Amino acid sequence: MSKSPNILLIYTGGTIGMIKDYKSNALKSFDFSHLKNKIPELKLLDCHIENICFEDPIDSSNMNSDNWVKLVEIIEKNYHDFDGFVVLTGTDTMSYTASAISFMLENLQKPIVFTGSQLPIGDLRTDAKENLITAIQIATLQEKAGPKISEVCLYFEYKLYRANRTTKISSEQFEAFDSPNYPPLAKSGVHLNFNDKYLLKHKSKRQKLIVRKKINANVVILKLYPGITKQIVEHILNIPKLQGVILESYGSGNAPTEDWFINLLEKTLKKGIPIVNVTQCVSGKVIMGYYETSSRLQEIGIISGNDITTESAIAKMKYLIGEKVSFENFKMYFETPLRGEMSF
Ligand code: ASP
Repeated sequence: MSKSPNILLIYTGGTIGMIKDYKSNALKSFDFSHLKNKIPELKLLDCHIENICFEDPIDSSNMNSDNWVKLVEIIEKNYHDFDGFVVLTGTDTMSYTASAISFMLENLQKPIVFTGSQLPIGDLRTDAKENLITAIQIATLQEKAGPKISEVCLYFEYKLYRANRTTKISSEQFEAFDSPNYPPLAKSGVHLNFNDKYLLKHKSKRQKLIVRKKINANVVILKLYPGITKQIVEHILNIPKLQGVILESYGSGNAPTEDWFINLLEKTLKKGIPIVNVTQCVSGKVIMGYYETSSRLQEIGIISGNDITTESAIAKMKYLIGEKVSFENFKMYFETPLRGEMSF
C-alpha cells in the first residue's frame, strides 16, 4: 500500500474526550477537530485522521440499542473511504457496545478498534494518550493482502483484545479490561507483538459487508443468587413482550433444582422464548450436565452460552432476535461462534 492509511476516529462520549478546565476544575468535552494540535505525537503517525463526534456525546451509561445503530451507520457510511476505524466510548459499557458492533457488522474486512481512558485526555497522568495513539497505530497496520486486523477489537493499557471477549474489571486501575477466556491479540511494549494465530481469519474479498441494524431490546439478564424467590423469577419471566433471557448461573452453569424454578423456565421456553445459560464466573465455561444441578436445565432445552461473556451474550441475543431467528434455530445460531465470541 503506497498511500498513508485513512483513519476515522469516532467519539461517542466518555472520559477520554474530556479535558480539565483548570480554572473551574470541571471536566468539559474536548474539541476533536484540533486533535493533532492537542496531541502532537499523532503527527508522527503516517496516516490521515478524520473525526466524527456524536452531536451530544454521552456517558456510556446512557448507551442503548439506538446509539449502537447510530454508531454502526457512521461506520457503514464511511466504510469504503477509510482503512480503519477507532471508536472512543466511555469504558463503563464499552464491552457491551463493542460486542454489539461486532455482531452488527458481518463480513468485516477492516479494523475497528475501541478505546477510552480512565483519566481525561488533558490530565497530567492520563492514560488517554497512549491508548489513543496505539489504537490508531493498530488501525493503520497493513499487510500485503490488506489490513492486519479485520475484526472489532478493544485496546487498553498495552493490550489489544478481541472486543466481544472483554469485560470491564476495574473502575480505578489503568488496566480496566480483561479477556478471561481468550488470549490478547497483541501486547504493546517496545514493540507491538501480535499473536497472529488468535486473530480472526480474513474474509474473502468477495464477501461484502452486511450491516445488521435490527436490534431487539426485549431481553433480560436474570442473575441468580442464593435465596432468589419464586415471585421474583416469575415476575421477570413474565415481563410483557419478553423475547429472550440470559440466565447468569453459578460455576459451570449450575442453578437451583427446585421444581418451581425449573417449571418456570420450562413454561418460558414453551412460549418460544429462548434462554441462554452463561456463568457468573469471571472465567471458565458452562458445561450443562456436568453437575446434577445443571442436568435438568439441559433436559428442558436451555441453550449453552459456553464461555461467552454476559456482555457479549446479551448483544448476541439482541442481534439474533432482531434478525428474527426462529426459536427452533436459535440454539444452533447461539451455540455457533459467529464473530469469535466463544470457543468451539
Ligand atoms: N462514566 C464514563 C463512561 O463510561 C467512564 C469512562 O469514560 O471511562 O462514559
